[in-house]
Amino acid sequence: MLGPIQIASRHRLLFLLTLLLSCGFFATTLFGYFVSKQAIRDAIIGQDLPLTSSNIYSEIQKDLVRPVLISSTMAHDTFVRDWILRGERPVAEMARYLAEVRHRHGAFASFFVAENSGNYYTADGILKQVSEQEPRDAWYYRVRAMADDYEINVDPDLANRDALTIFINYRVFDFDGHYIGATGIGLTVDSVRRLIRDYQTQFQRTIYFVDDRGRVVLYGGAEQPVVDPAERPGLSAQLATILGDRSGGSYQFVDRGDNHILNVNFLPELKWHLFVEQNEDKALAGIRRTLYINLAISFAVTLVVLSLTYFTLTRYQSRIEKMAVTDKLTGLLNRHAFAVLIDKLLAAARRHPQPISFLLADIDHFKSINDSHGHRVGDQVLARIADILRSTLREADFAVRWGGEEFLLVLPGCTAAEGLSVAEKLRAAVAQAQPEPENPALRVTISIGIAELADGETPDQSINRADKALYAAKQSGRNTVRRAEAANG
Ligand code: GH3
Ligand code: MG
Ligand code: MG
Repeated sequence: MLGPIQIASRHRLLFLLTLLLSCGFFATTLFGYFVSKQAIRDAIIGQDLPLTSSNIYSEIQKDLVRPVLISSTMAHDTFVRDWILRGERPVAEMARYLAEVRHRHGAFASFFVAENSGNYYTADGILKQVSEQEPRDAWYYRVRAMADDYEINVDPDLANRDALTIFINYRVFDFDGHYIGATGIGLTVDSVRRLIRDYQTQFQRTIYFVDDRGRVVLYGGAEQPVVDPAERPGLSAQLATILGDRSGGSYQFVDRGDNHILNVNFLPELKWHLFVEQNEDKALAGIRRTLYINLAISFAVTLVVLSLTYFTLTRYQSRIEKMAVTDKLTGLLNRHAFAVLIDKLLAAARRHPQPISFLLADIDHFKSINDSHGHRVGDQVLARIADILRSTLREADFAVRWGGEEFLLVLPGCTAAEGLSVAEKLRAAVAQAQPEPENPALRVTISIGIAELADGETPDQSINRADKALYAAKQSGRNTVRRAEAANG
């Protein structure tokens, strides 16, 4: 029938709607996500990490650079050098000098180790003699051999506590440039470490210092030591570039599947590189959650719109379809529907031959019903008789409103003889019925003409014969059924 064409176009419409909605939602959601992602990344690279870095930098300047300057002053102090060249006498003078330095700068230790004698001087005098065999004195032999003027030695045992313990070990030379010992102070600094901690917990950034050899020398977290950059596959490949670039910069690397952004700043006073890194994927977790929520909402809205559209369309369409094939007053099929159905029926009958009978029924004296009871009652009678016809027929039969008060009944599988008995049943049912409840006395009758579709005959020709039989029924007094003459030829 008409259905399949309309269903196909309905599916196409739904498909297009789905495409449009999901593309629209998907595009805006993803666009929003990528814009936010880029904004967050730009903020991390352009502001967050550099700001953290410069804050830490200025703090470390206060905490670490000052001790370096103090130690430098000690190493270049003419008193210190003269005192050594004079033969390290008297000891009390050096002790007083070291006590003064310690007191003035709030250090917990100040020291001088003389190369000549191997004496380790403190504010209390000679503490001991350094020895190459003593592991605790290894630092002195390292300092003696190193190329740089000084080193900052972070106490490895104490490094994990809140207070950071450092020693500045400064090389001392005489006025001719010969190495004559090492001096410096020992300090407890806790503000750098606290600051690093705060930044790490607040912003989920990892902050640590790396020396020129790529080893982590200082970090903030107490629980987990920071892994040396060389041990991290994504970072180790860039390490030479990072440590080589003393002007600092921004880098990206992948570690355990997560993208990391790294800001590096070189601190020339300490010869340390300040690493501030952020796990970008963790930083994006918030907007990723928003993305998923948005996608879910879009999906739900698409689903609701689609099902609403689907149900509206289906209801609307089935109404249109019904209107196109049925008669409004009686609910029977119209002539257009008959044309389609009879073609189908004939095609089926060609595959599986079967008799087909046509019954043409016409209400008797219907004009007078209209005339005496009004057109409205006439309509009600028409509808009522249509009901009677429909309920008497079988599933395979179909009833058509053929004309004003004329009905065509198509009975597949029925011979004219069987059609005759069906017609008789219909006639009797109508004659007994009260088609108008408000006028119980009102009775209506019908006359019926019957014809069976003959070989080589078209439905029109057969219905024509039924019409003639109907005329004969009317002629013989109405409320009668008549079988048509046999088809000629
Ligand atoms: P008979 O068939 O027995 O010869 O007499 P009749 O009065 O039925 O004659 P005819 O077939 O000529 O008249 C049919 C009448 O049916 C004419 C028309 O006014 C009326 N009619 C046709 N369609 C409708 C309709 O939809 N509603 C109403 N109320 N009347 C209709
Ligand atoms: Mg009539
Ligand atoms: Mg008529």
